[in-house]
Amino acid sequence: MQTKLFIGGEFVTGEAADEDILNPATGALIAKIPSASKAQIDQAVAAAARAFLSWGRTTPGERSGLLLKLADRIEAEAEEFAKLESLNCGKPYARVLEDEIPAVVDCFRFFAGAARCMSGSAAGEYLAGFTSMIRRDPVGVVASIAPWNYPLMMAAWKIAPALGAGNVVILKPSEQTPLTALKLAEIMAELFPAGVWNLVLGRGDTVGAPLVSHPGVHMSSLTGDIATGRKVLEAATGTLKRTHLELGGKAPVIVFDDADIESVVEGVRTFGYYNAGQDCTAACRIYAGPKVYDRLAADLTSAVSSIKFGGPDVEDAELGPVISERQRARVSSFVERARAQKHIEVTTGGKPGAGNGFFYEPTVIVGAKQEDEIVQREVFGPVVSITRFSDPDEAVRWANDSQYGLASSVWTKDISRAMETAARLQYGCTWVNTHFMLANEMPHGGMKSSGYGKDLSAYALEDYSVVRHVMVKF
Ligand code: NAD
Repeated sequence: MQTKLFIGGEFVTGEAADEDILNPATGALIAKIPSASKAQIDQAVAAAARAFLSWGRTTPGERSGLLLKLADRIEAEAEEFAKLESLNCGKPYARVLEDEIPAVVDCFRFFAGAARCMSGSAAGEYLAGFTSMIRRDPVGVVASIAPWNYPLMMAAWKIAPALGAGNVVILKPSEQTPLTALKLAEIMAELFPAGVWNLVLGRGDTVGAPLVSHPGVHMSSLTGDIATGRKVLEAATGTLKRTHLELGGKAPVIVFDDADIESVVEGVRTFGYYNAGQDCTAACRIYAGPKVYDRLAADLTSAVSSIKFGGPDVEDAELGPVISERQRARVSSFVERARAQKHIEVTTGGKPGAGNGFFYEPTVIVGAKQEDEIVQREVFGPVVSITRFSDPDEAVRWANDSQYGLASSVWTKDISRAMETAARLQYGCTWVNTHFMLANEMPHGGMKSSGYGKDLSAYALEDYSVVRHVMVKF
């Protein structure tokens, strides 16, 4: 396994402290990987800036060709990528191979096409005697900071639109999950000109912070926690950088009395616990109508208690561990504080799994109230709460009563009610009678404290490019 940074087309050993990379399914050490020093961050920014001079002037067709080759290579080496992701995150191997890698490949293919179809206003004489035209130009050097929940996929969501739009990139993956980015570097080294894509490794405070505050970086893109988003925004003020923030979520799931409860149970069992609930769109905050609440609580409890969890070596495991001991302790403390409230019942799960891995049992919390911490704060673990609402207005009011605004879902057989509720929800995405489904053609991003950057879709290309006006006098 290669463990080097990739700067200006060269693989270089990190000069700063080693980071321990653990296997979350066993707690065992996988590797010690050296971090980037301050001087190496400077070198990465300088190499990117040099590469931008020519890369920023390539044609969309040329960039598209390389993105397509990259997609082909990832597809050809899908099993190797899936093994590394599964090892580093403890995810079930089949889920990575069948769900995540094809989505990553399609992301690069989508942006390879979309980069050739940027749109703008018609050129014309908006002042007599002067022709105006719109350009969409790259921003320049982009620092991309990725989280640990879907390491390769989150990197792809950042790299593909940034490179497609003609920017150069410095990627910093999470210090906990660098393995697939290290593998990606081997392919990038073969395909892309030196300096167009660079990889620096290390922690947020020692590598991420100096990178996003670097005067040579023109744009910082983060997928991460709200608190990290605030820091990235503060760091951007020094040089007035463009920022692209994709932060946390606490998705409300509104279940009206006429909903198909079997579908709701199946949907929440899948989309509340997928990736051990470490998903910013996880279906984790259910509001159920008065007539279906009891049945939903009982059926969901029974369905969730049947979820098989275990490490990548456990056949048919649907869930893996959470990423770290620290994350498990955090999840556990949320559940314990919820359990201490008299009105709450933990109907299944509610404790760490056995063994050395960082497992936590899939958990259902019944009887939660709107003001409870478990309803208000992102747990980022396999924990779903259910709250009873008395009328539809209350459901929408409670759903919107959140600092988050990333994703939501509405479950009903009444299309008018679905449309009306979707229109009133303050979320970047609302699904009707489903949850969590993503398409590369459609935007993914939040409102309120969930951030404002759009990933995926042509809107991401807009975020990673600058609209310019050129006027010619004739
Ligand atoms: P995190 O914010 O702790 O870390 C994210 C990245 O930011 C890491 O690479 C980290 O090293 C880096 N970082 C930390 N401090 C930094 C600083 N001061 N300057 C620059 N970089 C810094 O988040 P996490 O724990 O890795 O991921 C979980 C969070 O990500 C959750 O809140 C989740 O909701 C969110 N998330 C959001 C989306 C989305 O699309 N909105 C997707 C996935 C995850």
